Amino acid sequence: MKVLLTGINSKYIHTALGVRCVAEYAKMQGFAVDILEESINTPILRVLDKLVAAKADVYGFSVHIWSKKYVTELIGLLLQVFPLAKIVLGGPEAGQVTLNNDRITVIQGEGEIAFCEYLQGKAVSGKTVDLAELPFVYPDLEQVIAEHKIVYYEASRGCPFRCSYCLSSVEHNVRQKPLPKVLAELDRFVAANVPLVKFVDRTYNLDEKFYLPVFQHLAAAQCDTTFHFEIKADLLSDKVLDFLATVPKGRFQFEVGIQSTNPDTLRAINRSNDWDKIAGNCRKILQNGNIHLHTDLIAGLPYEDLASWRKSFNEVFLLGAPMLQLGFLKVLPNTEIEQKAEQYGLVYMPEPPYEILATKWLGYGDLEFLRKFDKIFDVLHNGGHFPHYLAALLQDFDEPYELFAYIVGQWTVGEGETYNARSVATALHNIFGKRYENLLQKDIFNNIHHWRPDWLDWSEYTHKKLKMTAK
Ligand code: SF4
Repeated sequence: MKVLLTGINSKYIHTALGVRCVAEYAKMQGFAVDILEESINTPILRVLDKLVAAKADVYGFSVHIWSKKYVTELIGLLLQVFPLAKIVLGGPEAGQVTLNNDRITVIQGEGEIAFCEYLQGKAVSGKTVDLAELPFVYPDLEQVIAEHKIVYYEASRGCPFRCSYCLSSVEHNVRQKPLPKVLAELDRFVAANVPLVKFVDRTYNLDEKFYLPVFQHLAAAQCDTTFHFEIKADLLSDKVLDFLATVPKGRFQFEVGIQSTNPDTLRAINRSNDWDKIAGNCRKILQNGNIHLHTDLIAGLPYEDLASWRKSFNEVFLLGAPMLQLGFLKVLPNTEIEQKAEQYGLVYMPEPPYEILATKWLGYGDLEFLRKFDKIFDVLHNGGHFPHYLAALLQDFDEPYELFAYIVGQWTVGEGETYNARSVATALHNIFGKRYENLLQKDIFNNIHHWRPDWLDWSEYTHKKLKMTAK
């Protein structure tokens, strides 16, 4: 029996970890399984060609928020060419595919054992795999590196927390791979000098006895690899913080999900954040300057009105992380928050990405404003193009939110809806005129290549290369 598993990623540089886990496990059980990784940007007929050419007996697809529409259309086309093809769907959105066809089987939950049971013609038992038995899922590692793709790695599954908007909260039981196996697998990435390995563990730093040896092992490795972790900053002990100060620069990057600093909001979404600890620990990490840290906030949560979001934004911004990612609530099917949508007055897109449009506390106009805020802020702050100019502008405003909100409010100066370093620089110049113009010019010179706008005089820059100091 020939089996093809397809993962449609949201970007070319991603790899489909779920598909790889199922495929490698099924291969270990003796099935002939191939995988196909494409992105939602690949023309759909090109992917259909590959599916048809594979002449598989069973086609499996993983379905995610970003790929549901694409996969649904792809399956519709495949069934027209091969009406007798057997199709299996897995992944978090598999149950949301509403194609009525008895050739389609949907597998809920973990795929490894379930898919093998399906291939054997057995009833799907719902058993979860022993992570110790999972084979290494990058047998094609050299090719993944050559294609400049990100390697995703899973050292544990499940999450003990119960954030009401998150599907991972459904499985509280956390299972870890045995530590020696984790270290051996990571050594393969180190030996291949993979540029970026992202741990997908929902909260990486849950169990110090497990994760600290991994940190230590990776910090001591001879490689240029950067390892990315999602952490809960308030769980870091002093011992770990002391160790983190010794990690080689660029080896680790941390993503810290804060989401809100409003206690009512956090209570409503079942999230326990110790803000003082988060703030203190993030500041300690940032002071060392060796670990890139980025923070996350979510707009559209219960009890968060504009004043509350503003407070959350200011507090998190002032931690000083080089990146603050502003997300918008996604009301996913089968989550606790979906059950409470009416209570919270949540209006959201009924199809992926299920993004919030209005709440009891934020009207559509408020969220539209915050979406624009996000796009401009993302270029202006997260893009890192205007460090000196931005620092000077921030001094003129009482709080960070005020500056960014002011820019958003003024953003009509013929810039349209294009948000990139050039359009932001032009808008800033239109809004603030000659104020700190020399700093804007030097930031453009240092950070935006091949662009010298004619609204600035560049004669001073003709013969010398000016570099701003970090001061
Ligand atoms: S948001 Fe993160 S911490 Fe909360 S339940 Fe989901 S995975 Fe766990």
